[in-house]
Amino acid sequence: MGKNKQFVEKVTAMEEDFAQWYTDVVKQADLVDYGTVRGTMIIKPYGFSIWENIRDELDRKFKETGHSNVYFPLFIPESLLQKEKDHIEGFAPEVAWVTHGGDEELSERICVRPTSEVLFGEYYSKNIHSYRDLPMLYNQWSNVVRWEKTTRPFLRSLEFLWQEGHTCHATSEDAQDETARMLGIYADICENYLAIPVYRGKKTEKEKFAGADYTLTIEALMHDGKALQSGTSHYFGTGFAEAFDIRYLDKEGNQQPVHQTSWGMSTRVMGGLIMVHGDNRGLVVPPRIAPTQAMIVPIAQHKEGVLDKAYDLRDKLKGVARVGIDSSDKMPGWKFNEYEMKGIPVRVEMGPKDIEKDQVVLVRRDTGEKEFVSLDEVEARLPVLLEEVQQGLFDKALNHRNEKTTTATNMEEFKKSLEENSGFIKAMWCGDTECEEKIKDETSATSRCIPFEQENISDSCVCCGKEAKELVYWAKAY
Ligand SMILES: [Zn+2]
Repeated sequence: MGKNKQFVEKVTAMEEDFAQWYTDVVKQADLVDYGTVRGTMIIKPYGFSIWENIRDELDRKFKETGHSNVYFPLFIPESLLQKEKDHIEGFAPEVAWVTHGGDEELSERICVRPTSEVLFGEYYSKNIHSYRDLPMLYNQWSNVVRWEKTTRPFLRSLEFLWQEGHTCHATSEDAQDETARMLGIYADICENYLAIPVYRGKKTEKEKFAGADYTLTIEALMHDGKALQSGTSHYFGTGFAEAFDIRYLDKEGNQQPVHQTSWGMSTRVMGGLIMVHGDNRGLVVPPRIAPTQAMIVPIAQHKEGVLDKAYDLRDKLKGVARVGIDSSDKMPGWKFNEYEMKGIPVRVEMGPKDIEKDQVVLVRRDTGEKEFVSLDEVEARLPVLLEEVQQGLFDKALNHRNEKTTTATNMEEFKKSLEENSGFIKAMWCGDTECEEKIKDETSATSRCIPFEQENISDSCVCCGKEAKELVYWAKAY
């Protein structure tokens, strides 16, 4: 027991210091290590296998909706980045520049992509000619670099992995449908795979993507009451098409600019996963994306027949779930802690006494609940239990978010709410950026989204008291 206790103590309690808890979990669950350059991260095998499952689901959904994967270069010449004014202004502060090739200074600086709109823009201008070429639906899986001042694994790192979709359409309507469709896919991934409930809405002008007409977003609530932007989908209108001269010949023979979108989801959602479901014993991974859904831990495995039975069980369960077995000579207590730390949804215990009774013990990671299941029934029971865990995690996160979504009609209420029950605050807004900035200055909460589902909480702006235009969700955010 002494050893086990010490192991658990490596994770700081989240009530004590949430930031430290987060850092402890990413390390102890073996998700990442720090890179040599400040703010970079090494995604370790376990962390990467979770990301792969998220990636594969997304990829499948992109292909189902007609998108093709491509790969564009890492480098962008400075002159190309300058072409769309709002875009470069938005990204310039965090761009990493290549100035030398070997010993030679380059005649033009080259940017390491922070995102690839301009590269796609240049390509489309050369490759789209006629309405027959549309829509052009591309997606790229890649890394991007943003030179952030403060960094944290997954949440904000100099380099991260993501996908970026870039599409061209003949009409504004088609492009706007695409923008909404892709946000829907992100929401689906978050809610039905990551078990993270999200608010869907539009970003304000101040918070939208640099160069976009508008940005749609999904916003999730972390355990500490802060929000995490978990996926965004942008409608560009014809802004980039005008800047990059992307035109097509319509059926009547007229040159028309294309209407574009871009959308992205990144390894940031890994941070969301940790901060929504994790607890003081470590990570909790929702079954649908867990690399190992159930881990078999043989008890008293040195006794005759135990390991054989455990392997038989593994073979039997392989067909219904992603099952692992730990037959190493480490103590069962160590193994329990290890797989709790890694957040494996279900532990399957099997010892001599269980074998005698033709049963196994199933233990849920999320609630700690134990159940005894006969060997005849375990094949049917395990997949059902995994779905129960999946649903349980979602329900718990939804309850937490609902408890932490409050309303405010004036700044006094706003501040009180944020202090006493930090989370999302629903408040009316006049539409003025000035009020948005004032709220941020006074409370450090930012506008997260203008939800699609609007309500009328009051007739006046929470900040200035003038006539309200729309409901906004506000929160402190990562
Ligand atoms: Zn106002």
